[in-house]
Amino acid sequence: MGAYFIGAHELLGWVDGLRESTRIIGPVAKRQRFVFAELESAAQLRLDYDVTILPPKKVFFPPKQQILAFDSERVSDCIDPVPTVLLGVHFYDVKGLDMTDFLMRERYEDWNYLAQREATTIVASSVQSVAPRAFWGSIGAHVRPQGHDAMLTKVSEGYVLETRTPKGERLAGLERFRHATDDEVAGAERVNAAVMDQCSQLMPYDSKEIATKVRESFGNEELWDDLAMDCFSCGSCNIVCPTCYCFDVRDSWNVDQTSGQRTRYWDACLTREFAAVTMAGGQKENFREHHASRFRHRFMRKAAYLHDKLGGPACTGCGRCAAACTANIADPVRVINTIMGVTL
Ligand code: SF4
Ligand code: SF4
Repeated sequence: MGAYFIGAHELLGWVDGLRESTRIIGPVAKRQRFVFAELESAAQLRLDYDVTILPPKKVFFPPKQQILAFDSERVSDCIDPVPTVLLGVHFYDVKGLDMTDFLMRERYEDWNYLAQREATTIVASSVQSVAPRAFWGSIGAHVRPQGHDAMLTKVSEGYVLETRTPKGERLAGLERFRHATDDEVAGAERVNAAVMDQCSQLMPYDSKEIATKVRESFGNEELWDDLAMDCFSCGSCNIVCPTCYCFDVRDSWNVDQTSGQRTRYWDACLTREFAAVTMAGGQKENFREHHASRFRHRFMRKAAYLHDKLGGPACTGCGRCAAACTANIADPVRVINTIMGVTL
């Protein structure tokens, strides 16, 4: 596809032009932090953000989503995608979406997710500020982001838009852009390459080595008890993660007692009740009763179990879990570097 240039002073006009025909979701400020939200005006757009509180996964897989309506006659789906441009997604969050795209198709196609995914054009953007807990420079570096339709990179005097798909190409078809020069495209490449060295946190190991060592650590109860010692089982590390995709399903009934709805809610494997089940006869069992086994499970999933399926770790290095953890223990850099450093 093509490479285009837009002057810095033209960017907001372009975004406002897009808003006339479609919903635009992008990073906006929320007090001292940032969130992905629908833009009411292009002036709200903050492409200089470091990281958002929640990842853009929530556009396709909201925290609470009605999936069915039913009555005594029939069951109907609630799939109702909204044409959207999701603007300003950093590359590590595109990688997170690549993983959920795969996982939401893996066993059966989850159209509650995929319909909105197909109705959305994703414009990635270059990282202009690095979040303090980010470590994307040293995790899954060989895994390239793929799910975006275009990439917007800030260079001096403006932005280079490189399109990857016909959907991305349509965005540049609007006025205000001109074809980028070879120098501008090379400048964008340099910007995106240079940022990879700017994370202050490092995890200096190959992801396959990590996967092997993490698996081998499974039986080291003392190690996992120690790593998880201060865990409150709050589940915040799951909730903020771009690659977590577990959900709980609940039915609710209307007052007529014949109709109702089925809704799914994000779930979190660190919470006490996640693996609790009730069996025939009313017996109860919790397969991961202790907080250390839940904490270990999270790292087994991220570093080992999903590694082969995804071709790399189920972690993007966004650092959200590290920042969200009140006990300051969820940081994968701390956990993985500890495991890699111990003799099992
Ligand atoms: S590791 Fe931290 S964020 Fe995760 S459940 Fe435990 S206390 Fe909460
Ligand atoms: S495990 Fe933590 S650093 Fe990795 S993707 Fe999830 S929130 Fe980001």
